[in-house]
Amino acid sequence: MTLETFDLLIIGAGPAGLSAALEARRHGLSVALLDEQRSPGGQIYRNIDHSDPQRLAILGADYQAGLRLSQAFMACGARYIAGAAVWQVTPQKQVHYLLDGRAYVLQARRLLIATGAYERPMPIPGWTLPGVMTAGAGQILLKSAALLPAAPVILAGCGPLLYLLAVQYLRAGIALAALVDTSSHADALRAWRQLPKALRGWRDLLKGVSLLASLRRAGVKHYRGARDLAIEGEEQAQALRFSSGGVERRIPASLILLHQGVVPNTQISWSLRLQHHWSSEQLCWSVERDAWGETSLAGIFIAGDSGAIGGALVAQQQGRLAALAIVGQLQRLAAPAIEALAKPYRHALARQLAARPLLDALYRPPLESRVPADSVIVCRCEEVSAGDVRQHVDLGCLGPNQTKAFGRCGMGPCQGRLCGLSVTEVIAERRGVCPEQVGYYRIRSPLKPITLAQLASEPTASALQESL
Ligand SMILES: Cc1cc2nc3c(=O)[nH]c(=O)nc-3n(C[C@H](O)[C@H](O)[C@H](O)COP(=O)(O)OP(=O)(O)OC[C@H]3O[C@@H](n4cnc5c(N)ncnc54)[C@H](O)[C@@H]3O)c2cc1C
Repeated sequence: MTLETFDLLIIGAGPAGLSAALEARRHGLSVALLDEQRSPGGQIYRNIDHSDPQRLAILGADYQAGLRLSQAFMACGARYIAGAAVWQVTPQKQVHYLLDGRAYVLQARRLLIATGAYERPMPIPGWTLPGVMTAGAGQILLKSAALLPAAPVILAGCGPLLYLLAVQYLRAGIALAALVDTSSHADALRAWRQLPKALRGWRDLLKGVSLLASLRRAGVKHYRGARDLAIEGEEQAQALRFSSGGVERRIPASLILLHQGVVPNTQISWSLRLQHHWSSEQLCWSVERDAWGETSLAGIFIAGDSGAIGGALVAQQQGRLAALAIVGQLQRLAAPAIEALAKPYRHALARQLAARPLLDALYRPPLESRVPADSVIVCRCEEVSAGDVRQHVDLGCLGPNQTKAFGRCGMGPCQGRLCGLSVTEVIAERRGVCPEQVGYYRIRSPLKPITLAQLASEPTASALQESL
């Protein structure tokens, strides 16, 4: 069976994937880009092509910047396969995906994984109650469906996205009951040491300062250094309890949005057994890659947040660089030409990465909301608590993969995406070793739920040509 083959297959239509497609098309490669969303943009520019002027104004200038990228991509001649959920990628660079309930497969000469990030879980008491969501989920509802909270909302946790959403809600006229910030003076002190190097990325720093200034001007109650966060409620969230500045507080709200940063979506890279390492700065797994984004498996590249968290502009430069390396490998341009083209991208990349260590230090999620108390659920799908995981460790369980056998942790529909990091860190703490020694779940396909009937529908090569 001969599969339809592209010079470059890209998974993910965020800034990394779109930029890579533009660069690769510029040099004449055949490109197909798959994304499970129905329109290009990824997380930051989600639904950008369908946003009306009012929503564009609420979401702000950084969001609007995605319009040009998305329009350029749509005109670049790459095959865009929207609504395609990739459920398996093989080391031979075959990409299997589901589209409208049917399964398909394509072959790549080179593969770029640009699947971005998802939010770090924030397992605190009460986080599974109705009325508690992530800030990212709140923003997705705003970007994709113009849905806004009906009652005053609490935003709690840390990270730039929390402040950004707070400002976006203010622009939309939504009342904020409070911003409960876990970042503390100690974090600021640690971050301060990074300031000299971060000054090269002054634009990013200025953006953060301006978000905070907007919140102050609007009179939002901003509690810093918050600890002991717990959500009260039986059937529904009713209030957030926490301590800040030595004072115990309780703020009533029926909608509480949690966030403590984003982490790489490593499901595909783990399933391919690529080399990863534990980043003690970002407190998550990063994928090993060279300066062009090529991973430990030759011909498979990673760009953007799915390798390590860098943000949208970093993702764009990394997408461009990966595409250039692929152009070189497929012998469309000689090495000196590739180097010359790469130079401005590398320059921009260094500038855009400059502020990252400072941001990582400033918004380091506290231990207590990464490695929670015994009673807190960590695996929501199978309702496994941190205490259950600690018990498994006491019985001899050494890593996340074994927790599956001990108590089904990580075996639900999300396949460990929501609990993976918490489980690694809980086990590391109990064993008294570092997360690197504990490892991660052994991720296997299907990465997305697929029925047997859908699997059986995967067409032969000729049927595939017809259907695309
Ligand atoms: C919920 C959320 C909201 C965010 N909002 C902002 C924001 O407003 N501003 C900001 O500066 N940063 C935001 N970020 C951070 C942002 O993700 C990055 O800065 C930037 O978008 C990274 O670009 P990327 O190209 O690496 O990945 P992304 O933009 O995340 O794009 C990855 C794409 O891969 C697709 N994908 C993933 N897995 C699969 C699969 N198996 N099959 C098919 N497609 C797949 C996704 O649908 C997505 O479109 C947000 C992050 C999250 C998680």
